[in-house]
Amino acid sequence: MTKEEDLPDWNSSKEFYEKYEPKEVLGRGVSSVVRRCIHKTTRQEYAVKIIDITAGNISPKEVQELREATTKEIDILRKVSGHPNVIQLKDSYESSTFFFLVFDLMKRGELFDYLTEKVTLSEKETRKIMRALLEVIQYLHSINIVHRDLKPENILLDDDMNIKLTDFGFSCQLNENEKLKEICGTPGYLAPEILQCSMDDEHQGYGKEVDMWSTGVIMYTLLAGSPPFWHRKQMLMLRMIMNGDYQFGSPEWDDRSDTVKDLVICLTVLASVRIYYQYRQVKSVTRELVVRDPYALKPVRKLIDACAFRTYRHWVKKGEAQNRAALFENTCKAILLTLAAEEGLF
Ligand code: ADP
Ligand code: MG
Repeated sequence: MTKEEDLPDWNSSKEFYEKYEPKEVLGRGVSSVVRRCIHKTTRQEYAVKIIDITAGNISPKEVQELREATTKEIDILRKVSGHPNVIQLKDSYESSTFFFLVFDLMKRGELFDYLTEKVTLSEKETRKIMRALLEVIQYLHSINIVHRDLKPENILLDDDMNIKLTDFGFSCQLNENEKLKEICGTPGYLAPEILQCSMDDEHQGYGKEVDMWSTGVIMYTLLAGSPPFWHRKQMLMLRMIMNGDYQFGSPEWDDRSDTVKDLVICLTVLASVRIYYQYRQVKSVTRELVVRDPYALKPVRKLIDACAFRTYRHWVKKGEAQNRAALFENTCKAILLTLAAEEGLF
């Protein structure tokens, strides 16, 4: 039985408590607690995210900002809730101090916990998760919504192990050509352009492509069991992100196929090329150009060389018959290039 003193303000939140019985805590965030709850009349189980907009010692202005941010989270959830790989928002309540967001209950919890239990996932299982994740991101981006906090903790699993994307707390619907400047997200999953933006006042801002970077980080993490960019000193971790400094270390990557390594490299190369060109504000690279002759572009050439060296631990032979641009010439890269183009990376 949940203790009454653990629960927020009964009076102002009456409406929610009249309909639902809150139960044990399923997860916690900075200003939210997620509990299992039961709908009193149907006895159906749900999950409720209780957001305390007055938590901590915060100013009225900050309370107002949190209220607006939560209203935005609900608006976006209402827009995207119909997608099969997005968590369903069933109900929401607002009081002077609390918001209650009622969702379908995902009893299997986070992809993060599943990964912790399994240590690493097979390529087959990773493929199923990544396909669903890329499809849901493609859908969000098609309506100009950027998630900005993609990570295994925000991906839930239903009873049939299908993924459900959740936590739209940092999401934003962009206007045509709108760019973002705030730093938000989770350090290990931040795209370099978000970091660049924070260091350079002149930076033109970042767009929805930052989700593609986090998706690459997720894919690496599922296969390796640990994230690509991690250092106990956060500054050093951020520097690793800025330099695209990650490795296919041993033994985690020893048994992985070259195809899957190429796919991870490809995500990094694409993201880095895009950042390079955006940063310099020069003529943008096109999909055609990269596909036709990736080796002709200096930044791509440098990246391919560096990636080839990391993967094969030696330079790929320079002769006529074999060239390093071959790193771009298999099917999975073609699929990714198409996806990337649809995502507007070029
Ligand atoms: P925050 O913005 O505080 O990170 P989230 O929406 O990510 O809040 O929820 C926090 C955690 O609560 C999740 O990572 C997950 O463990 C749990 N959780 C959230 N929604 C559900 C749900 N529908 N079913 C089961 N667990 C959930
Ligand atoms: Mg979360």
